[in-house]
Amino acid sequence: FICCGLRITPVNYSLFGTLSIKLSKDIKIFKDVFPYPEVTLDELNDMKQFVIPVEKFFNEEVDSQKIDHDGVIPQETLDRLKQLGLFGMLIPEEYGGLGLSHVMYARLGEICSQDGAIAVTLAAHQAIGLKSILLAGTEEQKAKYLPKLATGEYIAAFCLTEATSGSDAASIQTRATLSEDKKYYTLNGSKIWITNGSLASIFTVFAKTEIIDSDGFKKDKITAFIVERNFGGITNGKPENKLGIRGSDTCEVHFENTKVPVENVIGEVGGGFKIAMNVLNSGRFSMGSLVAGMMKKLIGKTAEYACTRKQFNRPLSEFGLIQEKFALLARKTYVMESMAYLTAGMMDSPGFPDCSMEAAMVKVTGKSGVAMVFFYLFVFVFPFPFLNFLLIYFDLSTITSITF
Ligand SMILES: Cc1cc2nc3c(=O)[nH]c(=O)nc-3n(C[C@H](O)[C@H](O)[C@H](O)COP(=O)(O)OP(=O)(O)OC[C@H]3O[C@@H](n4cnc5c(N)ncnc54)[C@H](O)[C@@H]3O)c2cc1C
Repeated sequence: FICCGLRITPVNYSLFGTLSIKLSKDIKIFKDVFPYPEVTLDELNDMKQFVIPVEKFFNEEVDSQKIDHDGVIPQETLDRLKQLGLFGMLIPEEYGGLGLSHVMYARLGEICSQDGAIAVTLAAHQAIGLKSILLAGTEEQKAKYLPKLATGEYIAAFCLTEATSGSDAASIQTRATLSEDKKYYTLNGSKIWITNGSLASIFTVFAKTEIIDSDGFKKDKITAFIVERNFGGITNGKPENKLGIRGSDTCEVHFENTKVPVENVIGEVGGGFKIAMNVLNSGRFSMGSLVAGMMKKLIGKTAEYACTRKQFNRPLSEFGLIQEKFALLARKTYVMESMAYLTAGMMDSPGFPDCSMEAAMVKVTGKSGVAMVFFYLFVFVFPFPFLNFLLIYFDLSTITSITF
């Protein structure tokens, strides 16, 4: 059961009856049991400090039409994103990042989603690309890589998908073989659909390694590695041409006899599959605010159109059927936003609760439910000028549905 953020397992289910009696007596217990995440005034002020310059930048300096047309984010835009600290949102301050809470990350994501290509680039860098180091890296790995990843001097990519291995991530073929002196692994294989694939200088790569299992038999298990581009033997395919997020960098990445030092193994040898799944679980929640941000922008644009376009001598906005569509979109946006921030707030609460189920629900709502509304709205109401937005939305939802 999931109820208002409380996961009722068989163990605490039996406690629930007792607690519910106490609820009427003590509101504090209620708050302990249903910890609705509240934002303090201090946090709100902090948030404004980050939000205002980012919002200004996206409103005044980002030319999304050009980014999508040219199929590339200009270097000066990337540089400004770095200056604003947006490559280090989730990296703790001690490693030079902004050390934002999940709520703050979600809030900034809402703004960044105004440009799909930028949102995807930033998310691939920190929600998946460097996340394994944050979640399972050693102190040495964090100290070595995170400061440069936080400033954007290094851009990260997450390399899991292969030509024959998509949803079935455990079936990857890329292989890492331990050297005889046990000092390095030799990496061979090809990854496809890698976001930031040609921009990145740091890759989290998942590869099969031979291990001796607890039963004494040799087995192939997945291990995660931090791979620097300058380790050698790394090449890229040409950029994939996509819809709506053409400016994000997606390509094949090939590893040919790339030598990776053993100290660059993330977590345990053979423990990579779990790391990959943890990374994907922890990143999904961010889909919610990205979509909520896009929906709000869409409501603004479509409202503008509906108020100015006249048919039968009246603006479209005066027709009941059109008003109903807006009501539906506003309701879906409210649901999406509420789910996104409730989940983000729960993830920030003490004890780092496991919110993977809630995050998955945020993702599914973002992807399927809202997509239907967009389709409905666009096809029947606003035809052309918003097509680009629609395409960005569907591309974002496709990627986030799977990878994030
Ligand atoms: C723009 C973009 C960027 C990407 N960036 C990255 C990245 O940075 N790093 C990375 O590693 N990967 C990335 N990916 C790859 C993405 O994660 C894969 O597309 C994903 O893993 C799914 O694999 P697939 O496309 O091969 O689909 P498949 O696994 O072949 O699935 C095809 C369809 O079948 C469905 N399906 C599969 N199995 C089942 C099942 N058991 N039951 C029911 N339905 C099922 C799927 O839901 C899907 O609809 C990116 C993809 C895109 C499009």
